[in-house]
Amino acid sequence: MTQEAQEDYQFFKVVQDYLDQAADVVHLPTHVREMLSQPKNELIVNFPVKMDDGSLKLFKGYRIQHNNLLGPYKGGIRYHASVSLDDLKALSAMMTWKSGLMGIPFGGGKGGIKFNPRDYSNHEIMRITRRFTHALGTHIGPHFDIPAPDMGTNAQIMVWMMDTYMNSISETDKNAQRAVVTGKSLACGGSEGRAQATSRGVLHCIIEWTKEHHFELEGKTAIVQGFGNVGGNASLLLAKLGVSTVAVGDHSGYLANPEGFNAHKLIDHVKHHGSIGGYEGGHEISRDDFFSTKADIFIPAALENQVGTKEAELLDVKLIAEGANGPTTPAGELILKDRGIHIIPDVLANSGGVTVSYYEWVQNRRSESWDAEEVLSKLETAMTRAYHRVEYFAREHGVDQRIASYALALQRLNTAYAERGIFP
Ligand code: NAD
Repeated sequence: MTQEAQEDYQFFKVVQDYLDQAADVVHLPTHVREMLSQPKNELIVNFPVKMDDGSLKLFKGYRIQHNNLLGPYKGGIRYHASVSLDDLKALSAMMTWKSGLMGIPFGGGKGGIKFNPRDYSNHEIMRITRRFTHALGTHIGPHFDIPAPDMGTNAQIMVWMMDTYMNSISETDKNAQRAVVTGKSLACGGSEGRAQATSRGVLHCIIEWTKEHHFELEGKTAIVQGFGNVGGNASLLLAKLGVSTVAVGDHSGYLANPEGFNAHKLIDHVKHHGSIGGYEGGHEISRDDFFSTKADIFIPAALENQVGTKEAELLDVKLIAEGANGPTTPAGELILKDRGIHIIPDVLANSGGVTVSYYEWVQNRRSESWDAEEVLSKLETAMTRAYHRVEYFAREHGVDQRIASYALALQRLNTAYAERGIFP
């Protein structure tokens, strides 16, 4: 099993500190800073689920609704043994910043269930998902709060959520309710391009960074931590640009292949075996060896709190593009900056997911179905524009891209608060 960077890591506190730093840069009024420092709603539900052996088990589910000033709450559902209220508060706030930064009419939310889906059968996961959705009731909805996939969840789980929601509410126009979740399968109202959207967004940011730094991607190398939706697809897309992935890691351990992994085959292996463990196209290495592997790019695509001071000292890369949310600790970041390793921060780098989720929601609401070309070209424009806005703001204000991303989101939120005023 892999270890964490810091045992006492307080993710929500870290996000609040970044909020404070960015709020200072944009001179955010104190009351707006205060409102944004806590979620609006924190929902906890306990619900029983029948297991395959007939026994009943109680699960704890969360939905944190951080802010809905700019539009419905929006954000993923995480199934992982480490799910906690505080982490979801951090992740939900980050969704507010992402929507704000990308100019999407959504707010921020995040939810999840504290359990390890690998310990349960597919049928059990379906019943857990359906009972969770039922317990959330009308606290989610296409105009109110729209979940999406995150760690441990996928298109199938979104379809079960959608189906349960549709069947739980008395709506004559059931199909209009499809937009209650995004990241669905294509057959059930999903969007072309959604599955790879987050990774594509990461890649667009990397490409813009390379243009600025006169850095040719062809022939370069990458290391990728987390080989699920974001990590696996990032490795695949990097390969198409001539970048080989030379080390990978997931919950089961770490592997290296100096010749470069065949991303297609490794994704296929993960699909069939649930992890990279046992893949024969690479040799096992330790977590420290993984972080010490010399490469050009590092894509963290697993959990938060993975790059602390030790990992920051070990890393031998030029660029880190944060596919995961919160992978770098503030202490780790200081060391990386000192060592001249650039970071494209999570709020910018992985916002391709929420961007295409928005496109899916629009298509559902208009009963439209856009082709892949249209979705991908819109995504490229949105990511490239966001990257340059962040880069420009960072230069103008002498801050890093993380604080610039937060600051741009805060400016947008502040304008809306100023124009609307505070009720009553
Ligand atoms: P996923 O469940 O598809 O994959 C997660 C990967 O992380 C798996 O390979 C898993 O084995 C690995 N992992 C889990 N625990 C680990 C540990 N302790 N050490 C090393 N690896 C570990 O999830 P995903 O959707 O790819 O999400 C990955 C990250 O990207 C998360 O931080 C998520 O919040 C973020 N993200 C996802 C999306 C999206 O659209 N799916 C969008 C934005 C951000």
